[in-house]
This record gives sequence, C-alpha cells and structure tokens, in this order.
Amino acid sequence: MEKHKNHQSRNLAETPGVERTAMSFDRIIGQAPIKDTLQKIITNGRLSKTYIFYGPEGGGKDAMAIEFAKAINCLDETRVPCDVCTNCRQIGALTHPDLRILYAGSKKNLEKESAGRFQIKAKDPYIPLAKNSLAKILIDSTRELKQFLSLKIFNVKHRVIIISEADRMTEQAANSILKLLEEPPEKTMFILTTSQIDRLLPTIVSRCQVIKFSPLKADEIRDELIKRGTEKIQATIVSRLAGGNFRKAMILLQEDHQALRNMAFQAIVTGVSGDYLEQFAFIETLTSGKNKSMIRDFLSLALLWFRDVFFFHELRFGHPDWEAVLTNFDRLNDIQKLALLLEDQDVEQAIAKTELLVDLVDKNIYINLILIDFMTIFRNLQERVA
Ligand SMILES: [Zn+2]
Repeated sequence: MEKHKNHQSRNLAETPGVERTAMSFDRIIGQAPIKDTLQKIITNGRLSKTYIFYGPEGGGKDAMAIEFAKAINCLDETRVPCDVCTNCRQIGALTHPDLRILYAGSKKNLEKESAGRFQIKAKDPYIPLAKNSLAKILIDSTRELKQFLSLKIFNVKHRVIIISEADRMTEQAANSILKLLEEPPEKTMFILTTSQIDRLLPTIVSRCQVIKFSPLKADEIRDELIKRGTEKIQATIVSRLAGGNFRKAMILLQEDHQALRNMAFQAIVTGVSGDYLEQFAFIETLTSGKNKSMIRDFLSLALLWFRDVFFFHELRFGHPDWEAVLTNFDRLNDIQKLALLLEDQDVEQAIAKTELLVDLVDKNIYINLILIDFMTIFRNLQERVA
C-alpha cells in the first residue's frame, strides 16, 4: 500500500507540466523537510485535525499554515496549491468564508484593524499579524470562533482555524480552545503556530501533531531578499545578521548597515593598533546612542569580518569558489588587510570572544564593559609583537 502511494506520487511528479506537485508551497522560504512532510500527509490523505507548527520566530510558520490550508482545499487535482482556483485564491487572500485566523489584540483593536492586517499578511505572510508585542489572544476571540464554528460550512473540504502565536492565549482562551480540540467539529482543522511551545497548555500540545520548524539558512534568506529586489551585498550582510529569522532580516533591511560595517572594520583595526585613546574614542561614539540592538549588530558585524578573515586564511588556496562564503565579498582588500594583521589563532580567539560578547549584550551586561572587552581582544597581540 505504502509503496503503491509512493509510486503514484513519483509518477505525478514526473509527468510533464505537474512538476510543481512536489515543489509547491512556492511562497515558502526554505523549510524543505516540512514541505516534504506536509506533501506526504496530503498525498497519503492522513490529515490530523489539530496541528502545532512550532519553531523559531521568522521561520515561516504562519506562511506555511496558510499554504497548507490552501493545499488541502485546492480544487485542482494535479498540483496543490494551484494558486488559481477559488479556494486557493480566497484562502491566500485570507478572505475565505471557511477560514478563521486568531491573533493577539483587544476586541476593539481587532475590530478596527483586522481587515487591514489581513491584507498586509496576505501580501506578505512573513509579517506578523499582531502589532503589539504584549497583546494577548483573549476569550472574546475564542467566543467568536465558537460562533463561527456553529455556522454551516460553505464550500471547502476542511474548514481551517489558524491560531497565530498561540502561546499568547490567556488561560481562559486556552481552556476554551482546549475544549474545542478535545472534540473538534466536523471537517475542521486547527493549526496553532508558536515559537514558545512550553507556554502552551500541555493538554493542548498532547492533542496536536507537532511539526517542528528550523531557523532559515542565511543563504535562503539572502536569496529571498535578492528575489525581492535587495542588492546582493546588503542581502548578504542582513541575512547573516538575522539568525535564521526572515522577519528580523526585513527589519534589519530598514537600517543602514554600511556605516556600522565600516565602523566594525575600523574598530578591529584600532583594536589591533593598541592605541588606547583611539579605542576609547570609539567606545564613546558607539555608546552615545545607548542602543542595545545597535551594539549587538556592531559586534555581529565584527564577527562577520573575523569569519571572513578566517575563511581567507583557511580556504583561499584549494577552494575554487571560496569567495562565495564571504560576507564582505565586496571588500576583499580590507579582508586581506586584516588577514595580514591577524594570525589564525588570533582570529579564532576573536571569534570565540566576540560570540560571547554578543550573548552578553542580550543579558543586560553594562554595554561599556562589553565594548572595552571587545576593543582589547587583541591585547595579547601587542604583547606578542612587542
Ligand atoms: Zn487551488
């Protein structure tokens, strides 16, 4: 039976014109294993009624939930989601009468904003629905949901309820959802998305099939940004600062990282020079903004310079396309300059130390201390040279 199904799906994929069957979910960045899993679930017809899409922020859980809702309701027999049929189009636009999406916000705000938020989300499913990071999913929303579930189903195989950032449900709301999950209504599928599964009721988690997402790969983020019109160098830098989070990459795009990248380079040169006055002038400039996220980006950019120097040392000979791994590929001369100043062991130490400092920024350690530590990473170097 199993073999037969596989055989069937392979044939489908090999048939000219329907290659997209195995390659659908076109709007999803990366996450190939999840696409595979969901494709198999659809092909085998073994749909669960309750799913949790769990994984780090900005990995595309909501986006995948929408595509999945399209796929299981697509009217096309050969390629799902076809993106052409009524169901695909209306679910994609988040206007389908059999689709409900719950997200965090007060009743008043939801009433006022939902239409606009859904329009934005439909255009770019990687943008979060909730505007306020402290807002909760309230009992009002689940009450409305219950009402919705009592209505007649229009024209889908599976009515779909997406609960975006489900960990934001209040206790009351969560208990009300739990009751629904215990006896899910007919022809209805629940998809809860969350980056914090430990904040969901264990009784909810145990009722759901959990699909675990990974952070996106930097190259996947870079390629998507380039596809959306970002210049290659900016896309490369931002994708490596984003930590696998596409949402963060989009936020980073709005900032000017060229100036900060220069600063990181100059800081390393100054650090190596051992000139204390210049080092402290640097720290003063950096801390004048008192902006924690800027300091984190600064250190992360320094880290990327160190990595480039590491690759320069390690891969330059014998790897024909070694330049492809560089972040600052447009500044080969500067990478070379640093490579002349720093030996292998210096670079390895600097990477380890800077990684530690990036972590400390998030732990609310006094930023000036972190920067002093950073500027004096190469103290040993001067001692050695002296
Ligand atoms: Zn379709």
